[in-house]
Order: sequence, then C-alpha cells, then structure tokens
Amino acid sequence: MGLKIMSALNLTNDSVAESYDSIVKPNDDKRDYKAIVLTNGLKVLLISDRETDKSAAALTVGVGSMSDPRVVQGLAHFAEHMLFLGTKKYPDDNDYFKYITSNGGFANAYTAQSNTTYYFDISTNYISEALDRFSQFFVEPLFTESATDREINAVQSEYERDLPLDVWRNYQLDKTLSDPNNDYNKFSIGNIESLKEIPLKNGTNVRQELLSFHDRWYSANIMSLVVLGKESINSLEEIVIPLFSVIKHKSGVTLPKWQTNPLTADWLRKQYFVVPVKDKRSLNIAFPITDMSAHYRSKPFRYLVYLIGHEGRGSLLSELKANNWCTTLTAGNLLWWPTVGIEFDYFYIDVDLTDDGINHTDDIIILIFQYIAMLKSEGIKQWIWDEIKQMLEIDFHYQDRSQPINYVLSLADKLLLYPIEEILRVSYRMDEYRPELIAQSLNELSADRMRVRVVGKQFESIADQTERWFGTKYSLQDIPPEKIQLWLNIGLNDRLALPPPNDFIPYNLNVKPIEDNNQTIPQMIRNTEFSRIWYLQDFEYRKPKAYYAFKLTNPIVSDNPLNENMAQLFTRLFRDSVNEYLYAAEMAGLWFSMSSGLTGITLIRTVDDLTVDNVSQFKDQFVSRFHIESFIYGNILKSEAIDVCDAFEGKFKSQLKTKPIALSQHFLNREIYLTEGSDYVFETKTSVHKTNGIKIYYQIGVRDTKTNGLLGLLQQILKQPFFDKLRTKQQLGYVVWAYIRGANGMSFLIESDYKPSFLNERIEAYIQWFTKYIEDMNETDFETQRQALITRKLVKPKNSWDKCWTLWAEVMSKEYNFNREEIEVKAIKEITKQDIIDFMKKHLSHDSPDRCKLTVSIVTDNPINEKDGKDCNTDDMPTPTEIPVNLRVDTN
Ligand SMILES: [Zn+2]
Repeated sequence: MGLKIMSALNLTNDSVAESYDSIVKPNDDKRDYKAIVLTNGLKVLLISDRETDKSAAALTVGVGSMSDPRVVQGLAHFAEHMLFLGTKKYPDDNDYFKYITSNGGFANAYTAQSNTTYYFDISTNYISEALDRFSQFFVEPLFTESATDREINAVQSEYERDLPLDVWRNYQLDKTLSDPNNDYNKFSIGNIESLKEIPLKNGTNVRQELLSFHDRWYSANIMSLVVLGKESINSLEEIVIPLFSVIKHKSGVTLPKWQTNPLTADWLRKQYFVVPVKDKRSLNIAFPITDMSAHYRSKPFRYLVYLIGHEGRGSLLSELKANNWCTTLTAGNLLWWPTVGIEFDYFYIDVDLTDDGINHTDDIIILIFQYIAMLKSEGIKQWIWDEIKQMLEIDFHYQDRSQPINYVLSLADKLLLYPIEEILRVSYRMDEYRPELIAQSLNELSADRMRVRVVGKQFESIADQTERWFGTKYSLQDIPPEKIQLWLNIGLNDRLALPPPNDFIPYNLNVKPIEDNNQTIPQMIRNTEFSRIWYLQDFEYRKPKAYYAFKLTNPIVSDNPLNENMAQLFTRLFRDSVNEYLYAAEMAGLWFSMSSGLTGITLIRTVDDLTVDNVSQFKDQFVSRFHIESFIYGNILKSEAIDVCDAFEGKFKSQLKTKPIALSQHFLNREIYLTEGSDYVFETKTSVHKTNGIKIYYQIGVRDTKTNGLLGLLQQILKQPFFDKLRTKQQLGYVVWAYIRGANGMSFLIESDYKPSFLNERIEAYIQWFTKYIEDMNETDFETQRQALITRKLVKPKNSWDKCWTLWAEVMSKEYNFNREEIEVKAIKEITKQDIIDFMKKHLSHDSPDRCKLTVSIVTDNPINEKDGKDCNTDDMPTPTEIPVNLRVDTN
C-alpha cells in the first residue's frame, strides 16, 4: 500500500528514498501531513500546524528491554537514561534539559519491552535547535564514565520507587512465571544489582555494554520520527533531513521480532496465589492467543473486549456484582496498543475481589466460562460489530485535539508498524467484517489453556516461593484436572445475555449556530439563593459536544472528617448505583464523573464510624439543603442550558424538598496560616516503602496576581538547576521536584535513600546557592526565562475538554478569574530580577525572620540501601552553617 510519489524537492535531495503526501486524516483536521523515508531507512512523519503554540517531536527505536543481554538486565532502560547526559556535539550533561526547559519545553522518554521512545516539546521558535540536540542522541552519545557511575543511582532509585507497587510486582511475576527462554521473562527496570554487581562479578564492563548496545541497535532503519511544528511541510523537511539523515543504518540490523508465546504449555493449567503489599484482592486469568494485529481493519478483539468488559444489565460484571463478589472488571489483550516487534499475544480478564469474592474464585471462573459459552452459542453478531465501528468512526473524526507532545508520542511507534498513509487511522479503522477471526479468538478462550492469578493477603501462610527481583511471595500450583473438566463443559446461565442495541450512539453530529460572537468568557445567566449558572457556548472547537458541571455545596461536608468521608462514600455509592443505566451512554461517548471535595490527613481515623445508617442519615441531611453552582459549556444554546438546569434543580426541589443554604455558608477554600518564623516538622515512619521522602513547603500567603507571577517565575528559573544539581549531580534520588502548591507556596519533594535531615540540608543549601545563582544571572538569560514562562502560560487549551476544566476550576475555587493567564502574564512582564531576589530572601532563605516553613518527612524502617551522605559530592553547594532548629510537631 501507499503510492510512491517523488516531489520536485526530493528528486534533488538524495537523502530521501520515499515520500507520501496523502495521509488519511479526520474530516476537520486542518493540519498538513507528509511522510518520508530517508535513505538510511528512518521513517519520518511531518505535521505542519499553523496554529500551534508548541512544537514537538518523538522518536521511537524498535528495541527495548527484551533485547537486554541476560547478564545486564535493565540495560535498555539504562541506555535511555544515559542518552540525555551528553553527546559529542553537546557534551555537557545538563545541556539538553537546560535548553528544553529554558525555552518553555518538557522532555522525557520511556523504555518498553520492544521499543524505546524519546520525546519533547518546546516553544515554536526553538524547534530546529532542539532537534539538533535531540538528533545527537542517535548519532554520537558520550556515555561518559562519570555519568554512567552516577546515573545507576537514578535507576536504582526508580526501581526502589516501583518496588512496593503491586502493579509492578504482579507484572514482573507474570513475566517470571513464563517460558524462561523467552526474552519476555527478563527484568526490565534494572537496579544496582543487575547493572553493577552482577556485571562486575562476570567481568562485564557496563559502559562498554552501553556503547555496544547503542552501536548494535540504534540503527536508523528501525527508527521512526514524528515532528510537529508551525513551519510549512517544506521548511520542516529542510530542518529534519540534514539532522537525521546522518544517523547510521547499521548493517544487518532488522527490527527484532518475537513470535513464540511466553505462555507455553508448561505454564498453563496453573494457578498462583500472590501476597500483595497493599491489602488488595484480585483475580486475573490469562489465555495465550493468536496475534491479530495484522487484522487491524477487522479488530476481532475489540468485539470480545467490548462484550466481556460490558457493564450493563446481563453483563458478566453485573452478575458478579449481584453476588457481591467484585466491583470492577477489565478485559483486554496485550497488543491492544501497537507493540513494535511483538507477535504473540494473550487475552486477560481481571477482576478485583471483595472480602467475600476471594472465597468464591471458582464460582467467578464458572461465571466467566458461562459468559464465554453464551457468546459462543449466540454466534458473532454483525450489528454489535457495526456499533463498535460507528463509535470508532466518531472517535476518529471528532477526536479532541491533544497537546502536540502527546500527539507525536501517540504516533511514533505506530509509524514503525503500519502502512504509512494509514497511521492516523489504524486505531479507529474497522471496515472488514471477519466473523471467522472473532470466532477463532473466542475459541482460544478455553479452560484447558489458561493461567490463573489470585492476589490476597490471606495467602501469606501458603506462599512458599519468592520472586527474584521484587521479592514477591507466592505459591504456584497445578489446577486440578477435574476443575478444568468442569469449566470446559460448563453450560449456560440464563442471567447472562448480550446487551441490547445501544440507542445512545449518535448519528446526528451537527454543530449549532453561534448565538453571541462577543461572549468569550463564561457569563452568569442565573443567580438565585438556590443556584448559580455559568454558561459559555463553544465558539473555538466546534465539536458536537457539551459539558455540564454541577457543584452541590452543603457546609456539613466540611464540618468534620467523618462527614467528609461519608460524602465521599455516598458519592461512590451513588455512582455505582447508576452505573448499569449509564454504561451504554458512556460507551457512546458520554462521560460522567462525581467527586466530593476532600482534604486532610486525619480522615483515615474516622473510617470505623462509617456505617450504613450513618451514611443514609448523612444523605438525608445533605440533600435537605444545598447550593448548586453549575457551568454549562460547549455545543449548546443558552435556552437549552437553562432547561437542563431547571430539570436538575426541579427534581431536588419537588422530590426531596431541598432548600437553599444561608448566604453566610458560602465560603472560600481555606488553609492553615503558618506564622512568620515558623518551622514545623512532621515525621512519620513507613514499613511499606523502602525509601525515605521529604516534602518542604514554604508558605507565601493568599493567592493574588502579583504573588502568583513571582512564584511562577521563581519556579521557572529554579526548577531545572534543582533537578540538575540534586538529581543528576548529587544523585539524591529519582524524584526530585520543585513546584507551586497550596494557598500559595513553593514545595520541594525528594524521594531518597538519604535521611530526611540530610535532604533538608541539601534543600537549604540549594536555596542559598540559588540565591547567588540568580544574583549572577545576566539580563538576557533572565529575559529568556521570563519569555519561556509567558509562552507556557499562554498555551491555549487544545480542545473543549481542557478548556472546560480550566474554566470549571475557576468556578470551583470561586475565584472566577476566567482571563487568568492574560492577567498574570501582564504582571510577569513587570517583575524585575531584584523582585525575585527579594522574594527569595524573604520567603525561602534560612535566615529570614518572615519565612514560614513546614516539613513532612517519611522514614522507612525497612531500607535496602541506607545512605548517610558521606558519599555525596556537595562541594559546590555547602550547607548553610546556621540552619534553624526544627520545631517538632506532635505526631499523636
Ligand atoms: Zn527511567
């Protein structure tokens, strides 16, 4: 597929081998697309978007953790980290991050089983220089000795972070309990043991391994690149071609492929019982299945996942819930998303279990096979397939525009896999009805070829084995043959049935005429003692979508922690009770969510008081009085918005006799005021996590335009060197963040093997160092930072969803600053360097009498790698000699 068209430019350019001008795109997508394949084999998709305020790029290389050498597991991930830390052309290990963040951008990467993807975004003017730096990752990275030594710590810290997370533990255990000869079975994150100690024992030089891994696999012909910019397609080509055509096509390299399923016969008909870290219970069953990714135009698994995962009446979940065995169910297959090079697949059904459910896992499995039996006896229905097809068709043509960085990221790996002209459409395309493929996949969901995993604390007593990398305790057993026999011959259950046709699927997708061109921010169209309505018709995105948001305020919710808990529980119960009814609508694109405002850490202590009577009483009390504040936005007329609100209000007034609350009961969000000179510390222990954590909050005061501007600019300048010094150079941990939070204030967060007292010193030292740094900063650099912040602030919401949330947040906080960004940018333009220095000295410096500091630290009593700080190189950033003594907060 894909006609080869040689344009005039390409005829003169000997770096381009193929060129595609007609990429299939959504109806109202105004961006221009072109794909080229360079002579080195690199596939490139160029996207020209004249309206974008950010440029972005993503590059996928078709190699990942499955290609790690057995003796250096985690190498692909480690290589991913190392590419950021200096190239021959830009040797400084901070150069790339510094360039990106000081020009309004963000950069990251991830390593998957069979691919590694690098991505960034940046203000539109800087794309060409950013791409120059980026392309060097794939041309000549340094992998310096010193960075290699240091960065192992960051990987170790990332591993320690994942260590107590059950999702990672179960994932690794699933891999461990599969064919040991399959590359899928390896440990992908890596840690000090796999990246340092084991190679050391084997006489393997890790830096050498990094170099040869890059040298072997980072070959242009197994890479794909997506670039989105403001420039025309021709200009983008002129930027990209010279930079990326120098990447080598390494001889003999082809995209690695895995066709053998790791769930071999040895690992089927087995069940394993796993002890989790958190007190959570779940059941997961997995079937090896034939890879159907080549049949993307038929999508046989969409059909099965849609039905098995259905939540309406007659569904598997509905029946499981009726028995009070579980509350959620997920069905899916490994290759639901494009997966480079992996040509084996498995289908899974995952349910959480209630206290009672864990004693009924066999009954749950019986229900699952009764449902599968029902699907087989009903046969494959074209009308169901057509419904899914129509929903995907709508998703494709009316999809919300995403942030450029997310957009390029979503396309990069697909580009390696699918026909180039189809890549925008592959995930949505369903135009070949192939019932025989669906039937084939359905037949593979059989009781004699599955693996069962049950997770629950109660298996502690039988868990006799320990997983190598995460230390997960488990017990592996054969499923008794008589059980398999029973499940194989299971009959039908008349409570299980196919869903009825979905009447919510829209076929009329017209956009309404604009009523008032001048109305660009929400307008208050009703204000009574009972309700207030904010309304805005969408005049920018013009999609057939509308948003209704309602906030119900009754001051009893925040009276005490018990009430806050009850409000949350009530919300969940209500959500659950309407689930079956709303599910079909949700499948057809309706999105519904409810939440209750909840703050505070004392909440957990009141959980015992939550009884059915209490919650029911609370509900009566809550609905007796409240105030409704709503925001209606999108493809909806003013009169329709009023009708909707009337109907909503009317129900409460007529059926529940709800009354308004008093005017004095409307108040703003509040936070405890830390007095000048305060220095509070709250310290607690954890035995779950194996690392320590510290969070320091410097409270500034109430939010206002000037302070928001000062904080924003301070954070913009402070954040990148904070990461560079404390993570890249001093290697305190994987999470090293500086951000704005609270009523208003600056927060620093570090997760680390070091003690909180040492981390506190490091943060204080940084603040002192940074004050000098900013004093020495020249005006040009200061202006660049200011501009970067302004650009970031003025980024427009990419779609009506983002816009809705931005405006709704203003209503929720009762600040109603609908033009916040423009107003704050004006203030930012007035700020001088001296203002920032004064602000720092007043609010953050250790010797300021006005500083308000709150520290929360968590200390593990179960460290795997305790460090005292003696090994940490802090030469260029000495600890201030007189750090004030902390006041200890009573932790009882
Ligand atoms: Zn990482």
